[in-house]
Amino acid sequence: MSADDAIRCDTCPRGCLLEPGAVGACRARGNVDGSIVALGYGRVTSVAIDPVEKKPLARWMPGSTVLSLGSYGCNLRCPWCQNSSISQVGEDGVDWREMLPADVAALATRLHGQDPRMVGVAYTYNEPLVAWEFVRDCSVLVHDVGLKNVLVSAGCVSHTVVDSIAPLIDAANIDLKSFRAETYRVLGGDLATVKATIELFAATPTCHLEVTTLIVPGVNDTRGEMDELAAWLALLDTGIVLHVSRFHPAWRMRDRGSTPIIRVYELADVARAHLFHVCTGNC
Ligand code: SF4
Repeated sequence: MSADDAIRCDTCPRGCLLEPGAVGACRARGNVDGSIVALGYGRVTSVAIDPVEKKPLARWMPGSTVLSLGSYGCNLRCPWCQNSSISQVGEDGVDWREMLPADVAALATRLHGQDPRMVGVAYTYNEPLVAWEFVRDCSVLVHDVGLKNVLVSAGCVSHTVVDSIAPLIDAANIDLKSFRAETYRVLGGDLATVKATIELFAATPTCHLEVTTLIVPGVNDTRGEMDELAAWLALLDTGIVLHVSRFHPAWRMRDRGSTPIIRVYELADVARAHLFHVCTGNC
């Protein structure tokens, strides 16, 4: 093994250079025998049937539910992560079981047969796109059986990945964690990449798009930042639903209290100057 054998993963802007046997910063991709492989492929840590409103999706098939699947790993390091027990660990850090795409489609079909309000599969909880090949392969089979695909993602992945996934997704909720490049740098992400992802989903006519911004005190809670963020979204489509959500202390951010509810409402009003559909969440 030598550094000469290292290969670069191009799934996200981190661009990890991985020697044989090495695992990337997301803990879900690695160099296996000279190829970059999605180690999280088919490895499911969480299975639940959730209302679509919990994803959150406010204006897509209201009253329906989705079979929600999570794996492990994430390429970001948001200190307030609510799902750190699966997002900030690798294969040895959490129990998982194998569910291959055919298993996912079969389970979704069975659940839809039992309750037609269960309309499809959501890829969610951790960052699904660090194992985007699993999302792609499941989505094809889920469409083949006549059901829907929902993606919940931070969207910090390459244009190539989004290009291959977006046409398969019926509804997406993409996080826009901040409108400041410096904030994304601290989280290990890249604002320009996330903006490009949102632009691509917004330009995909078969996909319903909603966006979520978690308001964290001292991080992204100014009126000016929300004004810029919402104005930019409105340039794409004034009909994009924006969820303005309330932070609660979690994982490595317990040095401050929950966002004051009044602040969430204020910032939602700022966004409403630009967008038709602004929801508040976690309040
Ligand atoms: S997807 Fe994972 S392995 Fe690939 S560049 Fe990003 S963090 Fe590194």
